[in-house]
Amino acid sequence: MIYDQILVRYGEISTKGRNRKAFTKKLRENILMTLKDFSNIKISATRDRLHIYLNGDNGEEALKRLANVFGIQSYSPVVKTGKDMEEINEAALNLVQKSFSEGQTFKVSARRADKTFDLDTNEINYAVGSHVLKNTEGLTVNVKNPDIKLNVEIRKEGAYLSSEIYPGAAGMPAGASGKAMLMLSGGLDSPVAGYLTMKRGVEIEAVHFHSPPFTSERAKQKVIDLAKSLSAFSGSIKLHVVPFTEIQQTVHSQVPENYTMTSTRRMMLRITEKLREQHEGLGIVTGESLGQVASQTLESMFAINEVTSTPVLRPLIAMDKLDIIDIAKEIGTHDISILPYEDCCTVFTPPAPKTKPKREKIQFYESFVDFESLINKAVEETETLVIEGGLLQTEQDNFDELL
Ligand code: ATP
Ligand code: MG
Repeated sequence: MIYDQILVRYGEISTKGRNRKAFTKKLRENILMTLKDFSNIKISATRDRLHIYLNGDNGEEALKRLANVFGIQSYSPVVKTGKDMEEINEAALNLVQKSFSEGQTFKVSARRADKTFDLDTNEINYAVGSHVLKNTEGLTVNVKNPDIKLNVEIRKEGAYLSSEIYPGAAGMPAGASGKAMLMLSGGLDSPVAGYLTMKRGVEIEAVHFHSPPFTSERAKQKVIDLAKSLSAFSGSIKLHVVPFTEIQQTVHSQVPENYTMTSTRRMMLRITEKLREQHEGLGIVTGESLGQVASQTLESMFAINEVTSTPVLRPLIAMDKLDIIDIAKEIGTHDISILPYEDCCTVFTPPAPKTKPKREKIQFYESFVDFESLINKAVEETETLVIEGGLLQTEQDNFDELL
């Protein structure tokens, strides 16, 4: 079927009062970014809707990609025909049959902006309705609560038909609420933390600590793949890969074993803080959740968090592991995260890390080494990759069933 345009409804952003203009502008930019290889599209935004004019570009593909764009409540493809009843009837039948399943009900809802059109709204409803009914076995009419609502709008330049409504990704347009650095490991949690933060409109740049040869190229590739999955929600994502071997080895030779994990985390946070400053972020995101492991007790966070005054966002802090896993599956990161290649923390984890580390002690242990120079060196040698082209696998599959 040839779609003329896609109608996008905003939902949450339309309730944001004075910020609405900025939100709409961002959403429009993000849609353009998602569809950047579409050379003909034009977008116009009104108070509570946005119209994507396809001008011959691939509507089916656009529908798929829009499923990942935050800030969209729902959206509908629109078919344009000439103002000829035969043409309108045919298009109406095609649209209904596309989403129809046995036993469903429907209703036609006509509007007539062009008052010179031969038929009035009741007559259009009747004409289109009877054509569709006659040609679709098992379909009945229900005016109050139909499964399929077919909208027909007659305007000066033509007739517009729509019936399908796709659920959007909701949330806020990415980038509408500043930028934060996501500490991205190869595990299950941090990609989910990144996703949830992006959903609130925050732009994300990922930071990963890599310790070759203790961690393999495949472990790095895994993180690149995770970043790629996240890029489905923003068009593209920057990934900063920090060489961490020297610092990690120094920590292990200088700090008592049960404090190495606390110290390692402090070093990661100090480096992330410097990168945040360089890239003008306003926050740091981690996948920490209270009580999961030794590093994630409140005492531990207290000792680690000391090295920065930047807000550290922990969207998973109170979530259950099973709920986190569900989200990971939904966003397509689960299967990548469970691959066995270990990250630097797993390799260096001491047998009995301190669950209640003390700030004074860790400060004392770290005071014998010039970590600041090592940190600056790691920041200087950080490699930045721009990752794009992510497609939401799982939702994509569901989506194909919907289409
Ligand atoms: P995840 O599932 O995200 O790996 P986790 O349950 O394994 O988390 P920890 O190993 O304690 O928990 O890590 C806590 C957080 O520290 C991670 O969620 C991530 O934000 C950050 N982190 C840990 N290792 C790395 C790394 N190698 N690079 C970047 N960030 C890291
Ligand atoms: Mg981990």
